[in-house]
Amino acid sequence: MENFDRYLRAEIEPLQYAIFFGLLLVLMSLERLAHRSSEAPRRGRRWISNFSLTALNIFVIGAIPVSGVFVADFARDNGIGILNVLDIAPIAALVLGFLCRSFVSWMTHVALHRVPALWRVHRVHHTDRFLDVSTAVRFHPIEFLINTPILLTGILLSGISPVALMLYELFDTAMALFTHAYIRIPRPLERLLRFVVVTPDMHRVHHSSWQPETDSNYGATFSIWDHLFRTYREKTPSTLRTMQLGLAEYQDDRASSFWWLLTLPFRSLRDRRQARVLRREELLEKRGVDQR
Ligand SMILES: [Zn+2]
Repeated sequence: MENFDRYLRAEIEPLQYAIFFGLLLVLMSLERLAHRSSEAPRRGRRWISNFSLTALNIFVIGAIPVSGVFVADFARDNGIGILNVLDIAPIAALVLGFLCRSFVSWMTHVALHRVPALWRVHRVHHTDRFLDVSTAVRFHPIEFLINTPILLTGILLSGISPVALMLYELFDTAMALFTHAYIRIPRPLERLLRFVVVTPDMHRVHHSSWQPETDSNYGATFSIWDHLFRTYREKTPSTLRTMQLGLAEYQDDRASSFWWLLTLPFRSLRDRRQARVLRREELLEKRGVDQR
């Protein structure tokens, strides 16, 4: 395990870039072949904004002074965190650490949706009106500044090992690209996969413009937390193809503007409330028509 730890520390960055750019190219090629709906995702301005955010985020992540591995080392050396005080086999600690890391990610994502101040930032990711591999990297840089202290606290509480942490980062990079990709997996295989991991179809529901669906399927890697905490939702393949993506209040070209996305966290949440009221009125009106 010590050799593996040393290898990962030395190679984590090149490995992460290799997975990211390698998989990005593979999935982009597959996306050209697959047709999930009659309206394939538009690229153009949208891609420029999504990849500009990626470039900015690489810079911001590099500038964050404390790394998860540094804190995991500190926790291990000082016997801090549940897994560091339990007397368990290294492999069991690795598996549990991996699961703890994915639970921290799931919990953070729930908070990003439920806390209005955090939603202001996270909604940048959700304004994409199309879903493809470029959406995977569409995050406001502030989101990393929110995630980091939550993750570091999670590491201190749970005692996730440095190896588990590094392996999870590699897995998470691959899964982020996979779950946003505009690809179709054979149905029987997809049904099997979604018991344990998040699939593109499962994550697509999270990008629905209908709020109860936006607030579901929070998992980024494993689907188990959504099954366990009853935040799991699914749709039939035909409705997945026709559903509206993005946010109901921003169904226009603003969602493709880099500058607008950068300033979105500082804009009012009123649009969301108005969209909810409009939606409620629409439903009431529809019910009235149905009863007549
Ligand atoms: Zn989300």
